[in-house]
Amino acid sequence: MGLTAESVGLGAAGVRREKNSGADRVIALAGNPNVGKSTVFNALTGMNQHTGNWPGKTVATAQGIHRRMGLAYSIVDLPGTYSLLAHSAEEEVARDFLCFGGADAVIVVCDATCLERNLNLVLQTLEITPHAVVCVNLCDEAEKKGIRLDLGALEAELGVPVVGTSARSERGLDELMNAVEGVCGTASSLSVPVRYPAKVEEAAAELEEAIKPCAAGRVSTRWLALRLLEMDGAEPLRETLREHLGEDIFSHPALEGARKKLEDAGMGREALRDRMVSCIVLRAEALCRAAVLRPAGNQEWQRRLDRILTSRLTGIPVMLALLCGVLWLTITGANIPSSLLSRGLFWVQDRLTDLFHFLGAPEWLHGLIVLGAYRVLAWVVAVMLPPMAIFFPLFTLLEDFGYLPRVAFNLDHCFKKAHACGKQSLSMCMGFGCNAAGVVGCRIIDSPRERLIAILTNNFVPCNGRFPTLIAVISMFFAVSGPMQSAVSALLLTGVILLGIALTFLVSRLLSATVLGGMPSSFTLELPPYRRPQVGRVIVRSLFDRTLFVLARAAAVAAPAGLLLWGMANITVGDVSLLAHCAAFLDPFARLLGLDGVILIAFILGFPANEIVIPIILMAYLSTGTLVDYGSLASLKALLVQNGWTWVTAVSVMLLCLMHWPCSTTCLTIRKETGSLKWTAAAILIPTGIGMLLCFLFSGAMRLLGLVP
Ligand code: GDP
Repeated sequence: MGLTAESVGLGAAGVRREKNSGADRVIALAGNPNVGKSTVFNALTGMNQHTGNWPGKTVATAQGIHRRMGLAYSIVDLPGTYSLLAHSAEEEVARDFLCFGGADAVIVVCDATCLERNLNLVLQTLEITPHAVVCVNLCDEAEKKGIRLDLGALEAELGVPVVGTSARSERGLDELMNAVEGVCGTASSLSVPVRYPAKVEEAAAELEEAIKPCAAGRVSTRWLALRLLEMDGAEPLRETLREHLGEDIFSHPALEGARKKLEDAGMGREALRDRMVSCIVLRAEALCRAAVLRPAGNQEWQRRLDRILTSRLTGIPVMLALLCGVLWLTITGANIPSSLLSRGLFWVQDRLTDLFHFLGAPEWLHGLIVLGAYRVLAWVVAVMLPPMAIFFPLFTLLEDFGYLPRVAFNLDHCFKKAHACGKQSLSMCMGFGCNAAGVVGCRIIDSPRERLIAILTNNFVPCNGRFPTLIAVISMFFAVSGPMQSAVSALLLTGVILLGIALTFLVSRLLSATVLGGMPSSFTLELPPYRRPQVGRVIVRSLFDRTLFVLARAAAVAAPAGLLLWGMANITVGDVSLLAHCAAFLDPFARLLGLDGVILIAFILGFPANEIVIPIILMAYLSTGTLVDYGSLASLKALLVQNGWTWVTAVSVMLLCLMHWPCSTTCLTIRKETGSLKWTAAAILIPTGIGMLLCFLFSGAMRLLGLVP
């Protein structure tokens, strides 16, 4: 059948209703993603559909005809959205159509198994139009899960018809359309589905009175007043309103006074928006309490847990405590296996030496293979394996439990302040494992600007290659001895990570204020239900996918690096080794940063993999110093102190470890993801510049204070 599109005089704002010449009613279909909206749409319209894009947008639209009792209903499938408040293209399309699309009624499709989340959209829709029917779909699923709903109570609370359906088996659709017909064309007045704080209500009421003459009849004045109060006028809504109301309502004289009153009451636009969102959420919760007679078995504890893990007051402290706890377990747990491993591996080294001597191998071969390649490899395994084998499974357990989206939720506010995207916290979490993986993970960020910010700052999160260096330095120089040792180390390590996170915010903000300017986009993060982690699978997965993979990579780099180093330490030019020459060359510059030439060269040679920085430092010192039993951290510290290390050197090493060029794999990944040498260079220069600057300032200040010679 042919659909003749008839634009009904709503201009070029991208909000048109296409009315079939024979259609008597236009019905909009709204709903969160994945609630069965398309299933309802298909069941109602059958083959009578046509699809396309919303004018001027890349958002898909589908329209179709439903015939019933001699009437033709044109059903317009709106994009699936969680809210109508934010600014994604989908939400704009849905909101604009609900406001100005001229629909006779709207069906809001909800998921009966998680009604509360869906009610946010219902409440926001009811603020726009009273001609609405709530379709509680997936009733069969809810039944299966033992959820019992009182739809009558919900209907009484909302003041609009509520119909239960199972669209897949077409159950309840007839009742749905009866209810739709009932609300079409009735003169029902707009209900007030959500009440806001008294000050907001006052300001909105005043503003509503003032704007009535220009808005009345075309859009709900209460809704409009609330939007004018919480928006800054830069949103696309301003243009849409100008087209439909014929004037720029954002410059209405009454607006400034109303906003001023709210600001005086301590509610700037950001705060107002937050308050409004939380009022909607609270109302949805209250409605749910009335309508859900029996929730699915485990929902109540999930809600309680979310209240602790994501509340403004406790969300971030709990997150920090968890981070610190995980690090404490990592450090404490790694101590014993680390020293056992190193003892074992160095015992093997001695046996290898015996073997080489027994076979009468030349000394250079023994040096190259055993003291070079094997020793560095043994160090990497002894130092890296235990913390990784503890940290990764713990981290994966939290991930499997569903905690990471909560981290993103908690940090979203800070990222918005930095004009970046809240999803960046997820790519940061991946960076804890491996920055290259974190950079690839930035693909989840839709806006190219925000994705680039996330890529450029990912290196501020220390990856597993840098963790062992940080842990070793902290344990040697800052942990008090005794049982408190691990706790102090964990706290310090948490502090270092927090510094990295603070720098991420700072650099993100600086980038968005300069070369990567723009407003933050909004996103709705779906908080998935908590799940019982499958402990066995998690351990296997994190051991194989992460620990062994990373270890293999480190070993692959460490062995040749060991060879190279041994060569550099033993090939002499004029009685001085190549390594010493290079170190001496870099030394004056390194001293400015509170380091020495050996440390700087170790960082440079660590470009293929950060894991080998400490082993390189040790090898370089050992090639000139005395051989000690370096199974224990105390003897390692003695070696470092012999070579001039102080606590200031240790801090400078930690600062540079946290902030320097990304490793070679990460650089290649950045090049691939950004497709630009320029941005790859920026990703190298930004952390390196900041790291060196901080080292310079810190060691300079300590020198000025006379704390170091
Ligand atoms: P949309 O994203 O809201 O358009 O959701 P879809 O219509 O694509 O539906 C999502 C999934 O839910 C699909 O697998 C559907 O088959 C399923 N689904 C939709 N309605 C029902 C229902 O009433 N009962 C059950 N059990 N499944 C449904």
